[in-house]
Amino acid sequence: MKQFQYVKATSQQGVLDAINKPGTKIIAGGTNLVDLMKRGVTAPDKLIDITHLPLKSITPTKTGIHIGALALNSTVSEDKLVVEKQPLLAMALKAGASPQLRNMATVGGNMMQRTRCSYFYDITMPCNKREPGSGCGAMEGYNRMHAIFGASNQCIAVHPSDMCVGLAALDAVAIIAGKKGERRIPFTDFHRLPGDRPEMDNHLAKDEMIIGVEIPDNNFAKNSYYLKVRDRQSYAFALVSVAAALDISNGTIRGARLAMGGVAHKPWRLKPVETFLKGKTASDAVFKQAASIAMEGAKAFEYNKFKLKLAPNTLIQALKTAAGIAS
Ligand code: SF4
Repeated sequence: MKQFQYVKATSQQGVLDAINKPGTKIIAGGTNLVDLMKRGVTAPDKLIDITHLPLKSITPTKTGIHIGALALNSTVSEDKLVVEKQPLLAMALKAGASPQLRNMATVGGNMMQRTRCSYFYDITMPCNKREPGSGCGAMEGYNRMHAIFGASNQCIAVHPSDMCVGLAALDAVAIIAGKKGERRIPFTDFHRLPGDRPEMDNHLAKDEMIIGVEIPDNNFAKNSYYLKVRDRQSYAFALVSVAAALDISNGTIRGARLAMGGVAHKPWRLKPVETFLKGKTASDAVFKQAASIAMEGAKAFEYNKFKLKLAPNTLIQALKTAAGIAS
């Protein structure tokens, strides 16, 4: 691994002053960045450790919950307020990684984690995300874990986070600090599709940092479910996951929020399905129709064709569980 300078940040302003310099990166839990450095995927000159900044709190606001960017994944998943008001987020967090990793990983770091495409991590292989213009090893390679929605002819990788799928479904907002002040980005607009710039995972500018997320209050706590399908029961990335949040009254769906993971370069929000579900009776037949709408536009590659069946089935099961309908 290349030698690098390590400094502990003592203020948010100090981070913002330093972060725009070439070769400088922020580190918090380091659960992804250190892997990338060990593999030679990234080689920063300087790391700024932000773990001592006061960005760890989880607090109620007038309209929802504010979670600091440095709150640990394990802390958020066990927090009383989160479990009570946003159980979908707690479920998504507990589905991610392992207990040891969740004890280190932060909310901001989770948002910034990079794809787990094996060609991205193998520096002997072409990868447009790691080295723009070098090609895509996965396109004609072993693309079992890859996207079925929103891919480009440059990159077919998927975003690896579970937490972000939950936050996208819950209409969360990312709070960003920069030299010009703070700005707020709807969570669904934070990550991006690969297009012809697959090296860019999100819309965070080089001189900005994530300082928190906010989740607005909702009526989904009673009928929420996060379903993750993976190769083994723990410590595996999603083949397909679904965050399902329903507002049901007397069997009628008053509102729905849905997102999928493991299928696109960003958490894949299912807005047309949400529109379809509004006003419908929660039933097996309606959820099957919803799944067929969800799959419009899906396109598989050589080794991930199974996702074309797995994704709708996972959505149906997640909706049924959220609605309390027996399988
Ligand atoms: Fe790289 Fe994306 Fe292709 Fe994977 S899918 S090899 S990350 S360009």
